[in-house]
Amino acid sequence: MSADVPATDDPVVAALREACEGEVTGAAPISELTTLKVGGPARVHVDAMRDDDLVAVGRVCAEHDLPWLIVGRGSNLLVADAGWHGIAVSLGRGFRGYEVDGELVTAGAAEPLPSLAVKLANEGFRGFAWAAAVPGSLGGGVRMNAGAHGGEMADHLVEAELFRLSSGSRETWPAANLGLRYRHSDLPSDAVVVAATLRLARGETEEVRAEISEIKQWRRDHQPINEPNCGSVFTNPEGDSAGRLIEAVGGKELRIGGAGVSALHANFIVTTPTATAADVRSLIRTLRQRVADESGIVLRPEVQMVGDFDDEGLEVRAPDGAADGRGG
Ligand SMILES: Cc1cc2nc3c(=O)[nH]c(=O)nc-3n(C[C@H](O)[C@H](O)[C@H](O)COP(=O)(O)OP(=O)(O)OC[C@H]3O[C@@H](n4cnc5c(N)ncnc54)[C@H](O)[C@@H]3O)c2cc1C
Repeated sequence: MSADVPATDDPVVAALREACEGEVTGAAPISELTTLKVGGPARVHVDAMRDDDLVAVGRVCAEHDLPWLIVGRGSNLLVADAGWHGIAVSLGRGFRGYEVDGELVTAGAAEPLPSLAVKLANEGFRGFAWAAAVPGSLGGGVRMNAGAHGGEMADHLVEAELFRLSSGSRETWPAANLGLRYRHSDLPSDAVVVAATLRLARGETEEVRAEISEIKQWRRDHQPINEPNCGSVFTNPEGDSAGRLIEAVGGKELRIGGAGVSALHANFIVTTPTATAADVRSLIRTLRQRVADESGIVLRPEVQMVGDFDDEGLEVRAPDGAADGRGG
């Protein structure tokens, strides 16, 4: 531990600092770890550098009976204002980098998807340009089966390297065992994706770069990428779009506290500096209720909500015969 690390009274922080190579922060502001920029602190945040740091997180969670929260680039996370009373763990520099072996690419799970998409274009692969639009990590992308512009992780994933926090060991899981479907996987809750192997086809670098530029331009034109948000708040119901349904009930006019529906895309909630997680969640509930009342469709949140929300929950009164939105 370096001399400039602040002293701590928290035995959990002290135990993790003793064991981890990566940075350990007590009372860590979660809002800085997520793209929505709201939410209370995590009791402790570990920026894991190596497997031994993850071993320590699993061990300290067990010893202190604390839950863990795996945080990627926080681009699909809504953390409660009360924060996270356990250990939040991210993958640091030690989980970056990639290797190419013929048509297979094995990359560290901390690789940001947009830069990985560019690197793989430069390596002469095609088919992964869609990932340039998704501001998550490779690990978060596997967990969510991220996808865009006609592609998704399940199209390429051969296997994932999982670190199990409860046993402190690595396992290799073939993609077929991960239960990947629309914005969802069946990963065990203690599984940290630490690396993933993708199969990609060869292509012309210049063509793929042009495709990436087009995709990025489309995003700038159609999504509020310069305001804090978490991407699509709801999954699209079968055969319809959540954005269309929300717009049809006047959702674009809605604002609660510091959170509002984006004027550019109705399935995006954007926050201002005064926003709270409760504002965002209350807006999610209101949108669900309005859409259920008008269309009979109950939208399913895509954003992952974690921590204790002191509210009545997200259940909505569904009219008779209401359809459940597709997805996880
Ligand atoms: C502007 C914007 C546009 C977006 N567009 C898209 C889009 O087009 N398509 C799309 O699919 N998504 C989109 N998203 C949502 C988001 O980028 C994806 O869901 C992404 O896969 C989340 O990755 P992350 O690393 O940020 O995960 P986080 O948000 O940090 O976490 C999401 C979930 O994954 C888990 N997790 C994260 N890392 C790991 C890991 N290494 N191992 C195990 N579990 C992990 C977390 O515990 C959590 O349950 C968008 C988001 C934004 C802000």
